[in-house]
Amino acid sequence: MLKEILRKEDCASCRFCCAFRRTSLWETPIFTGENIDAIRENVDLDGSVLREFTSDSQNYATYDLSGKYLTDSPEEEAPCPYLGGRGCLLNDEEKPWDCKIWPLRVMRKADGEIVIALTPTCPSINKLDIETVKTFVRTKLQDDLFAYAAAHPYLIKEYKEGFFVLS
Ligand code: SF4
Ligand code: SF4
Repeated sequence: MLKEILRKEDCASCRFCCAFRRTSLWETPIFTGENIDAIRENVDLDGSVLREFTSDSQNYATYDLSGKYLTDSPEEEAPCPYLGGRGCLLNDEEKPWDCKIWPLRVMRKADGEIVIALTPTCPSINKLDIETVKTFVRTKLQDDLFAYAAAHPYLIKEYKEGFFVLS
């Protein structure tokens, strides 16, 4: 979604957003019902890692990495089960919206306002001029992001300090 401003080569040498520290487990991606069905239809993918649940009568799933850490180090990262040697194994239909919109997040502030925010942890996008990112998001993505989040309210994250509000 951010290919116009995020270079593919930077992501290939980073992969930060496909592995999770214990403190980042709240960022574990949420799969929609459509993602779950597509993954289960793909014989090359392991759908058994998905833990399904329902919210607002919609099906979702995520996976549990909490038992995957081998040390006590807070720096240790547990990889997403769908991360392969050459990147994400999922196609567009299978890939969670959380991953498609990263490093953006749709978040709910304490007063209930829904905002589009930029994570402080993506090394590439945070090198860009913030006004450039803001303009890109407001002109090209904003309406679609708010509409999708409104249709899938469980995907809206609670706002966290340090995220830069773009819209
Ligand atoms: S953290 Fe940013 S630079 Fe790194 S892989 Fe993710 S989107 Fe790309
Ligand atoms: S589903 Fe794909 S893009 Fe998302 S965290 Fe896993 S490997 Fe990365």
